[in-house]
Amino acid sequence: MAVPKRKTSPSKRNMRRSHHALQPAAFQECPNCGELKLPHNLCSACGHYNGREIVQPEG
Ligand SMILES: [Zn+2]
Repeated sequence: MAVPKRKTSPSKRNMRRSHHALQPAAFQECPNCGELKLPHNLCSACGHYNGREIVQPEG
């Protein structure tokens, strides 16, 4: 079995982890009602997607 020859140094370990930061969640304004929604997702406030009403909003 292949085994690393040397222990990974803290510098190399931290360089690898430099890409691990969390990104803030993406949000878009709904073109119909202006509420913030997730991209490529149905608007939870008005039930519209792609210019059409897909589901009736509750209440
Ligand atoms: Zn909406």
